[in-house]
Amino acid sequence: MQVFSQNAYLITADRLFDGEQMHQGWSVLVEGSKIVAVGPTQQIVPSCNYITIHYPNSTISPGFIEGHTHMLLYPYNITDWDTQVLKETDAYRTIRATIHAKNTLLAGFTTARDLGSEGAGYSDVALKKAINDNMIIGPSMLVAGRAIVATGSYGPKGYDDDQTIMLGAEPADGNNVYKTVRDQIGKGADFIKVYADYRWGLKGDDQPSFTLEELKIINEVAKSSGRGFVAHAKSKEGMRRAILAGAETIEHGDFLDADIAALMKQHHVTFFPTLSAVEKITEYKGWQKGIQTTPSNILNKKRSFKLALDAGVQIGMGGDVGVYAHGQNALEMELMVEYGMSPIEVLKAATSVNAKAFHLENEIGYLKPGWTSDIIIINGNPLMDMHTIRNIQWVMKHGVIYKN
Ligand SMILES: [Zn+2]
Repeated sequence: MQVFSQNAYLITADRLFDGEQMHQGWSVLVEGSKIVAVGPTQQIVPSCNYITIHYPNSTISPGFIEGHTHMLLYPYNITDWDTQVLKETDAYRTIRATIHAKNTLLAGFTTARDLGSEGAGYSDVALKKAINDNMIIGPSMLVAGRAIVATGSYGPKGYDDDQTIMLGAEPADGNNVYKTVRDQIGKGADFIKVYADYRWGLKGDDQPSFTLEELKIINEVAKSSGRGFVAHAKSKEGMRRAILAGAETIEHGDFLDADIAALMKQHHVTFFPTLSAVEKITEYKGWQKGIQTTPSNILNKKRSFKLALDAGVQIGMGGDVGVYAHGQNALEMELMVEYGMSPIEVLKAATSVNAKAFHLENEIGYLKPGWTSDIIIINGNPLMDMHTIRNIQWVMKHGVIYKN
């Protein structure tokens, strides 16, 4: 009689990326939700019977971690942001989000950090729970909930002042930030997301929204509950204040310069440049990539990305998915290569670097004994061609196979 341990798999392919390095001819052995061995195939000696998974011409990798998604949003060229926020019910948006979650997982992203429900309340908290309860399929999630904005600094904007318009995030100012942060924590936020600036300058330019003091309070209250705070920031001053206040990650950073890059490095901030969002929004406005000249906003992005790279800033992978379709998460990794990052660094960004940025480096982001069995198989070699990550053949999350 053969005895099979509960869901033991020996996963083999041509090569294995362990979260830091690529190894030829390595395999990984998993038992249930844990990895038990990783190394050269002939050196792995299973202690029980197991099922062999083998894909030729392929690469095994830790499940990718999407660092910046909005499961409650979908592409603005289908329905613009204002309409999604103002006209669609939270229920409708949540039903749609269940499809987004499924598409994200099947694209090889076994974990996702959601940066705000954009007007859908705490639907992200419910989505995360439904996934954890095995009601629907999707990645493991870290969620922000409503996110926080300074009064007057967020959209939808441009409506008659006599109307009360609901916002895409929760306003808070001054002493009220204590209560707002605590309330968001109480309702299920895994971290506090703040918009440190907004395009409310006199010329529609990005200018800081919160004062440094307000951001410090947000940080203090979040930290005392064991959570971090992260900041949307494009302007230099917005980034500077957020970093000095203790932000763990900076999102977007369009106007990052050498001084800000140095400050990020000094404060061990992880930078999420969200290259895809800028390219997609510019495309929605009519830009044809490869045909028309590159507009200044994209040149800016390329410049800030290069500056951060040269300064040795920790760069995470997160594309601001939702602006474009969930399941197309690979786009950000392709653009990171296109903008000058080496393929091995891009793979690290999507696995071990993101895991560290989210304090999960002892659970995910690596293929190591004891780590969670979140594993994917890519058809091809992403070090030779990053587009191969669009060909995900096999997905395992917590020891369960979701794509075969
Ligand atoms: Zn975002």
